Amino acid sequence: MSMLQTRPRRARPRFHPLTVSRVERLTDRAVAVSFAIPDELRETFAFRPGQHLTLRTEIGGDEVRRSYSICLSRAEAERRRELRIGSAVVDGGLMSTWLNEDVRAGDVIDVLPALGDFTVPTDAARARHHVAIAAGSGITPVLSLLTTVLEDEPTSRATLIFGNREPASAMFLPELEQLAERYPERFTLRNVFSRVPQADGSPAGRIDAARLEALLGSTTPPAEVDEWYLCGPFELVETARKLLEHKGVEQHHVHHEVFHVDRPGMTAG
Ligand SMILES: Cc1cc2nc3c(=O)[nH]c(=O)nc-3n(C[C@H](O)[C@H](O)[C@H](O)COP(=O)(O)OP(=O)(O)OC[C@H]3O[C@@H](n4cnc5c(N)ncnc54)[C@H](O)[C@@H]3O)c2cc1C
Repeated sequence: MSMLQTRPRRARPRFHPLTVSRVERLTDRAVAVSFAIPDELRETFAFRPGQHLTLRTEIGGDEVRRSYSICLSRAEAERRRELRIGSAVVDGGLMSTWLNEDVRAGDVIDVLPALGDFTVPTDAARARHHVAIAAGSGITPVLSLLTTVLEDEPTSRATLIFGNREPASAMFLPELEQLAERYPERFTLRNVFSRVPQADGSPAGRIDAARLEALLGSTTPPAEVDEWYLCGPFELVETARKLLEHKGVEQHHVHHEVFHVDRPGMTAG
């Protein structure tokens, strides 16, 4: 029997028309869009936390496809029979503007099942410390990853360092605060605002190397962390990646996703 015959056949993923079940405004410039998953597509749309969906539509006569990370825990997605994405407006952006301004409950959108490797399998038997560093819309996969970990690993902890301009522009902030109330012993939320002073009185500022080093040094020594998740602008992910490398963190424990790279010649990944 040839190699070709013995290889399992995998169906090529294809787009499915899904109905928008609700659209929630998160901030002035971001919405969450949920899709109803009918019973016959539950298996097709099964996902690992951290993965993304690909949406396809026509805007101005052209086909547009973009990726959006799933931002619900696995258990919550199952309970609601929905998948949810969050989209922040990018100035002049085709699909983000369409999602934020035009999409309504009841609309039907072509969606490709979940893809991506920004994920770590959960293990109920392990007591781990998972730390995420995210900024802006980079919270979306991290919300799914950390919520799933807290639900599926009853003795693990999670810490989120979350950068935004100010509280009003932070996507899913009320949901994250509820998570901190639900798991007071196991989930720590550290907001970093670039335009207003921090809760502890320290000055406004972005998550740069110095601030990150201070944050990690005081509360989250890298030697006590099992898995790292970095998501946000390229600059933030690179800053965090280099700092962790410098601190001797093994690369295979550092997982990252970049949504967009500004500079030409660089690829997201
Ligand atoms: C794996 C993956 C997961 C993603 N998950 C999410 C998510 O959960 N939520 C979310 O909001 N976005 C997410 N994105 C980004 C998303 O796919 C789109 O790129 C984004 O919504 C912009 O698309 P657009 O059609 O509005 O802009 P476009 O019409 O493609 O771009 C308009 C202009 O904005 C620039 N631009 C494009 N994207 C960005 C950006 N992100 N930041 C700054 N400038 C940009 C372009 O270079 C161009 O100049 C993800 C991207 C990837 C690769």
